[in-house]
Amino acid sequence: MGSLQFSFGTMSSGKSTLALQIHHNLAATGTGLLCSMHDRAGAHVSSALGVSTPAVEVHPKLDFYALAHSHQSGHGALDYLVCDEAQFYTDPQVDQLARVVDELGVDVYAFGLLTDFRGKLFPGSARFLEVADQRLELQVQARCWCGRAATHNARLHDGVQVYDGDVVLIDDGSTAQVTYELRCRNHWILGDSGPIADRFRAAG
Ligand SMILES: [Zn+2]
Repeated sequence: MGSLQFSFGTMSSGKSTLALQIHHNLAATGTGLLCSMHDRAGAHVSSALGVSTPAVEVHPKLDFYALAHSHQSGHGALDYLVCDEAQFYTDPQVDQLARVVDELGVDVYAFGLLTDFRGKLFPGSARFLEVADQRLELQVQARCWCGRAATHNARLHDGVQVYDGDVVLIDDGSTAQVTYELRCRNHWILGDSGPIADRFRAAG
């Protein structure tokens, strides 16, 4: 009997690092696939700590059930799937993963961001919360600049926090420099970048 586990956190909560570690450990005794979408390294899962492993690139039209079923038929076994950047998966893809668990007996370990820079649940993450067997919040002490636990991802344009825009940012050639920072809820709501921003303002 398989299980669908959804682990979530902010940026820098170690999702990709943990995904790589689970894949590494399970691959010692089983057969599995590592899957990712929009990763910073293309068809890889790469962690902020510098480790990178080739992965199945997840496109919106990928059918996880078909992928798992054909892998079981072709290779004789499939024990697990490790799915990174799972916040970007579509509702049907999350439901396919539930079928992979229930009908094919495969364990699925999914990792994703909970909310986007607007503070809204990613649709894929919402669906995982609805259907997962286990929902785990990652606890690696990611912090806001003030020292409080980071619960939000802030998007900044040229250092100024924004609350509107496309969830998946396509490079449109605009000159604004887009960066992301971790914030506690209070400083996310206030759009407060802290003393570093104050120094910038004093210098500018
Ligand atoms: Zn704060």
